[in-house]
Amino acid sequence: MRIVALEEHVFLNSFADELDRVRDRGRTGTFPTGLKRDLLGDVGQSRLDSMDEAGITVQVLSVPGSGAALYAQREGGIDYARRYNDAIAEHVRRHPDRFRAFAHLPLLTPDAAATELERAVRDLGCCGTMISGMNDEKFLDDAAFDPVLAAAEALDVPIYIHPALPPADVRARYYDGFAPPLAHAFATSGWGWHAETAVHVVRLVLSGALDRHPRLKIIVGHMGEGLTTMLARFDAWLTPRAPHLSRSVSQTILDQVTITTSGFFSLPPFMAALLAFGVDRILFSVDYPFESNRQARDFLDALPIAPSDLEKIAHGNADRLLRLTSLERR
Ligand code: ZN
Repeated sequence: MRIVALEEHVFLNSFADELDRVRDRGRTGTFPTGLKRDLLGDVGQSRLDSMDEAGITVQVLSVPGSGAALYAQREGGIDYARRYNDAIAEHVRRHPDRFRAFAHLPLLTPDAAATELERAVRDLGCCGTMISGMNDEKFLDDAAFDPVLAAAEALDVPIYIHPALPPADVRARYYDGFAPPLAHAFATSGWGWHAETAVHVVRLVLSGALDRHPRLKIIVGHMGEGLTTMLARFDAWLTPRAPHLSRSVSQTILDQVTITTSGFFSLPPFMAALLAFGVDRILFSVDYPFESNRQARDFLDALPIAPSDLEKIAHGNADRLLRLTSLERR
């Protein structure tokens, strides 16, 4: 069975080194450059071996964090993102049937980010973009990012909203007070990331951004980041207080948000996702190398669903959403 995974990360070594040098000059970033560096930096045989062992056909590659946003000199981020997308596109060209890519954007300069998204999709064959957490202390609903939303909508490519390290004051007030490794996990992969990404999506709805861009497609990972259990609650408490919106909060989410299984390999959250979002809006993903290709594949194989539904989750939905099997150029 063809299997497509689309929250699969790369962090090429030369770019990680470059970020380390920028960081040395006192900047803060949204991704710790030392984490899983060997595996993130490999876009060759060890990555392909791990994919083969788990029977994963295609990885859609993405850069975790907002590296280009590290540049206080904002124009530096534009050049960094262009070089990064060129480098990843070269890896895709080497293995066109195994790798595709989401573009990395210089979000501190939104007009340039929109231009780079167009270039990355049209010239490099990228199939959308991944955006991590807040940029410039703003979520994507901020009017500053409207050019990026408009470009993704016009190009008909999705924006994958990924979590990132929380701002220092959020972390201090919400998550500190425990041993450092525990506080860090609480603020990120053990809770905070998922709450933050759900907030990100709800802000896009409540601000009217998704109404202004009704054909914009959003993807979130981690089995829907908790949104799947909240739809009725949103309509009880948010929809009646949001008369400026053209649709209910739940309908807007169901119309425009697709979810992936990244990092969530147990049945209860999958069943909630299946009931709330339906089989056409769930896509297989791993979150390599932070999660195991093998564990994700075993979870997929054990799902108690019809073979035709399994095909949708394994590749059909992703092939359609990202137009992976189409030769059509934008
Ligand atoms: Zn991830």
